[in-house]
Amino acid sequence: MSKEPVNHFQSRLKKLRNKAESKLAKSQAESATPKELKQAPIESVDVLLHELQVHQIELEMQNDELMKINLSEQILRNRYNELYEFAPIAYLTINADGLITNINSKAAFMLGIDRNNKNRFASFLVDQDKDRWHLIFMRLKKQAIGAENSVCLMLKHGNGSVFYGQIDCRRAKDHDALGVINITIADVSQIKQSESDLRIAATAFESQEGIFITDIDTVILKINRAFTRITGYGEADIIGKTPKALHSGVQNAIFYKNMWNNITATGSWQGEIVNKRKNGDTFIELLTITAIYNTDNTLQNYVGSLIDITSQRAAAEQIEKLAFYDQLTGMPNRRLLLDRIQHASASSNRSGQHCALMFIDVDNFKSLNDTQGHDMGDLMLKQMAERLTSCVREGDTVSRIGGDEFVVMLENLSQDAEAATKQTHVIAEKMLSVLSEHYSLSSHEFRCTSSIGIIVFSGHKTSVEDLLKRIDIAMYQAKHTGRNRLCFFDKTMQSRVESRVELEQDLRLGMSLNQFVPYYQKQVNSDGITMGAELLIRWLHPKNGLIAPMQFIPLAEENGMILEMGQYMLEIACKQLDAWKSNPLYSLLTIAVNVSSRQFYQPDFVHNLSALINKYTVNPNKLDIELTETVVLDNVDDAMTKMRELNLLGIKFSIDDFGTGYSSLAYLTRLPLSHLKIDQSFVRNIGVKESDSIIVKTIIAMAKNLGMTVIAEGVETEAQRNFLAVNGCNWYQGFLFGKPVPLVEFEQSLQVS
Ligand code: C2E
Ligand code: MG
Ligand code: MG
Repeated sequence: MSKEPVNHFQSRLKKLRNKAESKLAKSQAESATPKELKQAPIESVDVLLHELQVHQIELEMQNDELMKINLSEQILRNRYNELYEFAPIAYLTINADGLITNINSKAAFMLGIDRNNKNRFASFLVDQDKDRWHLIFMRLKKQAIGAENSVCLMLKHGNGSVFYGQIDCRRAKDHDALGVINITIADVSQIKQSESDLRIAATAFESQEGIFITDIDTVILKINRAFTRITGYGEADIIGKTPKALHSGVQNAIFYKNMWNNITATGSWQGEIVNKRKNGDTFIELLTITAIYNTDNTLQNYVGSLIDITSQRAAAEQIEKLAFYDQLTGMPNRRLLLDRIQHASASSNRSGQHCALMFIDVDNFKSLNDTQGHDMGDLMLKQMAERLTSCVREGDTVSRIGGDEFVVMLENLSQDAEAATKQTHVIAEKMLSVLSEHYSLSSHEFRCTSSIGIIVFSGHKTSVEDLLKRIDIAMYQAKHTGRNRLCFFDKTMQSRVESRVELEQDLRLGMSLNQFVPYYQKQVNSDGITMGAELLIRWLHPKNGLIAPMQFIPLAEENGMILEMGQYMLEIACKQLDAWKSNPLYSLLTIAVNVSSRQFYQPDFVHNLSALINKYTVNPNKLDIELTETVVLDNVDDAMTKMRELNLLGIKFSIDDFGTGYSSLAYLTRLPLSHLKIDQSFVRNIGVKESDSIIVKTIIAMAKNLGMTVIAEGVETEAQRNFLAVNGCNWYQGFLFGKPVPLVEFEQSLQVS
């Protein structure tokens, strides 16, 4: 209430009081003497008194009223204070210096303020917002009373936590007329958080995944842009419809029923489905459907998110194809075969049924490739794959594991091993037969045979690697026994292989420990004079004693160790010739060295040998290289080139074991050969087998015609020597003249003779 009535009353009271006081003073002055007093009119005093009493009453009444007004003013002030102090909104006032002069408890609580201290409002702002506030504050200070400004700033609580404050400022006038700013602060952190959540949600909604939101009846309410991009359906096409619009028909009703059962039970479902785009194309999508519930747990919406995985799937299929299938034939490759064998073993273990593995190798594929070219070879392999597939059932596997090698796996054969073997045999026979039929390769007709190694197995008893090893062994066995054959693996094959493996390891060790030594066997002329020696390798095995070359040379040929061995023997020969050079007893001797096919066809053979000759300054005429007919015939052109090159250096060549190769002699005329060594098998039969005696005679005659020296190998008896001598043989080698012996013995034998 306004103070005006009180003021008015007080001023009237003052006036009355002044009037009465002046009258009283006057009457007192007049009654300074009793006479004068007696003379004062009685009634005017009474009136005055009455007036005074009235005024007194009036005054009292007005005083009561004043008190009431004061009381209600106090109540109002209290209510104001209460309202200010405990208002649910933070309220504070700052002065022109930015200091907080008034603050209600909500604001004090919000800022964590100690109200006894003078606080600067700006000190409650985070650093990055201080400049903004300063601008607003400066501007407001300059503005008229009543000017307002609002800003959202980040504030700090005394405990260090921060919050977003919506700050509304109003320029007001203070008692000291400097001006103040009234500020209300509302904590809008939650609103800000919600805004940010909404922003994130909106961004997420427009993600790469297609999203659709439906009501509880699966009617689509909202879709995002990715949904349109993936499905082709825009909002106008699909909103109001259900996702059935996308159905391709690939999934049946049971599928969808299960899907919805799952959503109802667990609240969500995820899986791959094939759907149809607006343009009718089908696509594979990874779909996730999630049920959205209200706080009271009632169903509100379904949200579906989908990723188009069509191209991803195609790429995965392509990768799988590259990784697990042979590019040429489209058949499973080795990797997939191994996997299938594992599975087959497991299922055979359960069912007790047998499986069979067959290793198929083309007998002369190399020659097709060499003569007709790789394109023809590829064509044939494709046809082979088709033929093999035609022989097996659908669940069986035909795989190509490399080159011309196929492995076929038969599954679900009989539980009885014998019956399973029979079943396999029938199929393998059929395979041999279809594989040996004509292949029409472009304009060419080609025919070839194959060899098949087989194993019948069940369960996990044998590892996959061992199974493959065994069919490989069986296949080689099939080849050895004459090609176009099939061969079932048996245990003796295995032990042969195992001892071979053992020998191989031993051989490597022997090589590194220098267990190989040269033996020398005399070669004499018709007068019995030693003309030279053949160098024959021996293995001085620490446990097994002296091992003859036939027990390890074939293996060394296969595993390549023959290269090291051969080089070693050539070096020994050169070294020895060098050592003999200055001794008249040995200086005329020749040394014959056996050279294997693999060694001879090394591209650097000529280079290596001439390097050795240079190294030991050997007379090349003293070195005689023994090659068998088969070695030379393996690649006549290459052999010829090499022999000619070396012959130009002075090196001589012999054909070893002549007569065993059943080859034509025509090529002999084209080769730079010095010696022909009649194989000991013919010599042995001299006088025993008429035909062999004739062969020996013929060989000697022919060699003479060709201007070659003939050496008879394996001469053991005088009778043999006589026969050979009568027929014109030049040189002899055999036990009759001397067995192969170590160097020292060989040299001693020459000193004696
Ligand atoms: P080869 O080159 O035909 O050697 C002749 C073989 O006949 C030698 O067997 C020799 O001991 C044997 N021999 C010689 N005279 C008689 C005889 O009167 N009666 C009988 N029963 N045998 C006789 P060896 O030393 O066991 O060598 C066998 C084969 O091993 C050689 O046949 C040769 O092909 C090969 N060989 C030996 N040393 C080497 C070598 O250093 N390198 C290569 N690549 N092969 C070698
Ligand atoms: Mg020889
Ligand atoms: Mg020989």
